[in-house]
Amino acid sequence: MSQSMGQDVVSACSPLPLGEGPGVREPAEAALELVEPCTPPPPKGEAGRGLDFADRWRELDWDHVGMSIRAKTARDVELALANPRRGLDDFMALISPAAEPFLPQMAELAERLTRQRFGNTVGFYVPLYLSNLCANDCSYCGFSMSNRLKRKTLNAEEIERECLALKARGFDSVLLVTGEHETKVGMAYFRQHLPQIRRHFSTLAMEVQPLSQAEYAELKTLGLDAVMVYQETYHAPAYARHHLRGNKQDIEWRLATPDRLGRAGIDKIGLGALIGLSPDWRADSYFVAEHLSWLERHHWQSRYSLSFPRLRPCTGGLQPEVTMTDRQLVQLICAWRLLSPTLDLSLSTRESPAFRNGALRLGITQMSAESRTQPGGYAEGDEEELEQFAIHDDRALGEVAAAVRQAGLQPVFKDWEPFLGR
Ligand code: SF4
Repeated sequence: MSQSMGQDVVSACSPLPLGEGPGVREPAEAALELVEPCTPPPPKGEAGRGLDFADRWRELDWDHVGMSIRAKTARDVELALANPRRGLDDFMALISPAAEPFLPQMAELAERLTRQRFGNTVGFYVPLYLSNLCANDCSYCGFSMSNRLKRKTLNAEEIERECLALKARGFDSVLLVTGEHETKVGMAYFRQHLPQIRRHFSTLAMEVQPLSQAEYAELKTLGLDAVMVYQETYHAPAYARHHLRGNKQDIEWRLATPDRLGRAGIDKIGLGALIGLSPDWRADSYFVAEHLSWLERHHWQSRYSLSFPRLRPCTGGLQPEVTMTDRQLVQLICAWRLLSPTLDLSLSTRESPAFRNGALRLGITQMSAESRTQPGGYAEGDEEELEQFAIHDDRALGEVAAAVRQAGLQPVFKDWEPFLGR
């Protein structure tokens, strides 16, 4: 299932003509001729650290999971709804086709549990894209190395301008996003720029290439609070089909990343699957639930958040293998809340304004707004060619916050006061 590490190193080093800063990348064929030394990915597994989720994942059978979900009956759903301490088997029932007629009851229960735990609040964050350089080829992403588009990595001055533009809009919680390019946007870059960004915001999250435990521990000392590491899909054949080149081909290294985050003491860990990448969104969602259950048992000191992005068009666009309807996404959001009353559920601007307004009360606790998925997009305006994917909700922050208030909820921009410690 996973690629040999040697192959990965060659693939990751190959695209160096991507270059730094603005400029058009060379064609992939030319890139293959220019190989510079680059940092190899950290070794797989970490000797002496014990099991990680990849071990559990290997025990699970995708087809059996899919069939078990479809075998659930209305009675199983009733039992799951009545169970005060729901588990993975209940989650199976709640995401099954048999649960679709129970959506009103699920929604009512999900809303009640969310308000009990989180009060009448919705937290706001904003993605800050630092670089669109990437040494991977993912079939669903505009930043893929084989896409011919302008590449840009923000320098200190440009980062400062982005931070000031976001602060002026009212944001206080940022998610730093880069493509995966270890030599150009790796630890040296993060060491240099994290403290600078940290000074502006009270909460700092990252969505970058998987790192080692020691690297996460170091970034924590520089102010890192949370890391999102979406598995994309837990279906090995689909994962191989959609990850065509680069370190990301190593599914097991990615599967074990949240374990390394937990061991490094990162406060919050984000999980999720990209819906539409595999042939069965229900099975993928169940695998995410298995992953969450594993992590909560092994790394209970960390908090967890979840996203359920649906595949959106991008440069060189890909059609989803399956389409999830709005109603099915509502079912999934409610099922997650019923499984875990404490889980942060996040809804990004991939979804439409109408859907986001409607889903607000069900269980969503985190939203992004005014997102720009290209480096420099906040201070320098739109350059659509650089986008990672097309966003669906382009309302200004004020409009989204007004919709939140209209739903009877309070928008929250500051989640934590750093001097209280973590
Ligand atoms: S999904 Fe991530 S790793 Fe894949 S091409 Fe896009 S930025 Fe690179």
